[in-house]
Amino acid sequence: MVPTKEENPNGLHQKYVVTKADGSSVDPDAEYFVLRLDYKGGDVSHVRACRAALSMYAKAIQERIPDLANDLKERYDLHHPFIEAWLLMAKRTHQTNCDKGFVAEDGNIDHGTQFMLMVCELCEAFEAFRSSAPDDKLPWREGREVELGDTVIRIMNYATQAKLNVAPAMIEKDEYNQGRPYKHGGKKF
Ligand SMILES: [Mg+2]
Repeated sequence: MVPTKEENPNGLHQKYVVTKADGSSVDPDAEYFVLRLDYKGGDVSHVRACRAALSMYAKAIQERIPDLANDLKERYDLHHPFIEAWLLMAKRTHQTNCDKGFVAEDGNIDHGTQFMLMVCELCEAFEAFRSSAPDDKLPWREGREVELGDTVIRIMNYATQAKLNVAPAMIEKDEYNQGRPYKHGGKKF
């Protein structure tokens, strides 16, 4: 039995009573969890969490109930072009990484090494900025551009291997940042 609000006011408790729109009966043993998906009032960060959960649900049912998955993505803007583009590029760079032997076949990830590789690419970008040199591999490009690109590729490869949802996290963080005050926290930069 799910606790009442009085029994568990800050945790899981019965908040809604679910009925079916077609009037048919609801299985008395069924349990449902309601997500709020609109931004018209309420706690915005909570709505974001609900939408993230819905996004995972749509992904999980994509093969089994594709029409419902696609309707959810369209109605709630879950099919974000940036996320799609990120996943496309991440898949490509991961495949290259695998083809060149840099991904362990047993799926093991050396997390410390992966983070250091990201840091090293940023250092290479700074060195390229210091020397104003063109890139040695792509000489038609500024070195800084290519090394920053390398950094993102390293991040994509790590996110793919570690199954991290970096692209949606970027969108959510930018939305959060948009709501922050001017020079929040009294910081100079
Ligand atoms: Mg590099």
